[in-house]
Amino acid sequence: MNLLEINNLRKTFDELEVIQDISLSVKEGEVLSIIGPSGSGKSTLLRCATMLERMDSGTMSYMGELAVWTDENGNAVYAKSAQLKKIQNYYGLVFQNFNLFPHFSVMKNITDAPIHVQKRPKDEVYKEARELLKKMGLSDKEDAYPCQLSGGQCQRVAIARALALNPKILFFDEPTSALDPELTGEVLKVIRSLADLDITMVIVTHEMAFARDISDRIIFVDNGVIAQQGTPEEIFQSDNARTREFLGKYH
Ligand code: ADP
Ligand code: MG
Repeated sequence: MNLLEINNLRKTFDELEVIQDISLSVKEGEVLSIIGPSGSGKSTLLRCATMLERMDSGTMSYMGELAVWTDENGNAVYAKSAQLKKIQNYYGLVFQNFNLFPHFSVMKNITDAPIHVQKRPKDEVYKEARELLKKMGLSDKEDAYPCQLSGGQCQRVAIARALALNPKILFFDEPTSALDPELTGEVLKVIRSLADLDITMVIVTHEMAFARDISDRIIFVDNGVIAQQGTPEEIFQSDNARTREFLGKYH
């Protein structure tokens, strides 16, 4: 069974067709990278997949449970809110700009939703949060506030916060594009360590060497469609003129 399955996704903003008929699926344990030029619709795709943005039409299911389908008039229909709430527990999202709560300590950023939204026991949540911080190399930052941290540390807190909700799949939208090169490495290293733990991930990235190295599969999105998809070898040794032109910009 696919963990995530999206079929025939379309999304327009006003007259602009940003996503034209994209279908994709993600298997349990898989690492999928999404590459493509700026403005090609990558963030919109992730925002539709995580229901931050409403798709115009298409179908989407997580763990075989239907979240969105299309009615006979071609309009997207979303499942009832109880079903959507359940489905929202299956995924987490890490943003480009971290989106931490500035007035919460690191610990509170991580534990707030597990305690207040998922209603899990406080002791257990704190214990898990400390383990996550250790994994992220941030054991000494429990009581710090986001403004006292580097961008790379903030992003590692954001990753810990997403993991604290025990998602089945983690989405990343350009997790290192707001970081200096030396901080990029530390965040990529953390993401790599998650791949080693078999966490299913969908990563939008401009870090081509990283994508090549970490991914089971890569999707190249261009102008709101999947221009090519395949294994890293297939993408990086592609004969496809458009793929080669895009990748050529990174050499
Ligand atoms: P990418 O992440 O690949 O750079 P985006 O998904 O952010 O691309 O954007 C794709 C296109 O959709 C761009 O032309 C962008 O200007 C447009 N767009 C994105 N979000 C909105 C929005 N909320 N309203 C109007 N246009 C948008
Ligand atoms: Mg984007």
